[in-house]
Amino acid sequence: MTRRRLVAANWKMNGTRAANAAWLAEFAGARPSCETVVCAPFVYLPQLIDRLASSGLAGSATAVGAQNLSERSPGAFTGEVAGEMLVDLGCRWVIVGHSERRALYGETNEIVAAKAARALALGLRPIVCIGETLAERDGKRTMAVVSAQLAAVLKTCRAADLARGAVAYEPVWAIGTGRTATPEQAQEVHATIRAQLVAADSEAATATRIVYGGSVKPANAAELFAQPDIDGGLIGGASLIARDFVAICAAAT
Ligand code: PEP
Repeated sequence: MTRRRLVAANWKMNGTRAANAAWLAEFAGARPSCETVVCAPFVYLPQLIDRLASSGLAGSATAVGAQNLSERSPGAFTGEVAGEMLVDLGCRWVIVGHSERRALYGETNEIVAAKAARALALGLRPIVCIGETLAERDGKRTMAVVSAQLAAVLKTCRAADLARGAVAYEPVWAIGTGRTATPEQAQEVHATIRAQLVAADSEAATATRIVYGGSVKPANAAELFAQPDIDGGLIGGASLIARDFVAICAAAT
């Protein structure tokens, strides 16, 4: 089975309405041919959704994603954003368990699993991020850490449902550092993730996109995407420059 490549932008806590408009104009002009998701801060989601719709890009090829959601249903949770609200806006994807949220906001494997389950229950497609720190890699614990992170999600979500979203392997030591995993290092972990999904549901495992994230740029994207179990990318820093993001999308097609 050929999996359609998926390239997602993670703008993190960046953007202004003017900068976003310029980015969207350049992106819409380039019309990338792979499936793309643009994950922006909550406040800019309506701007993206409206602009992509008016440029005719919205649909199966380009969608908008959030970078987080609450694991709870709407109620007295000041400052939180419910998945229901994302659905209400027309947002289709959501990043769950990014390493910055795990490290800076105390998101445990269980919280991440609850968020993934919440997203799926609401019809949102989660991009579930997993990955090891440098100390864990140096301690030869990469596979154990990544497997435990995925196992927690598979405890609350059916693999067949997860296949509607994606798994992002993002080694923490490669995020925003300029240091990328080699294609072989990334493929080794992606193959292990695939095997774990196969053990849960082989049909779903074949359909699930496993994307790589960690200092992907136009110069290294093609060799990463050429690996058999790397089905696209989650792009942080380089996604802020529309030209670079479009070039990375081109490397995926
Ligand atoms: C990310 O934040 O998901 C990411 C991969 O960042 P960067 O591309 O900047 O390493």
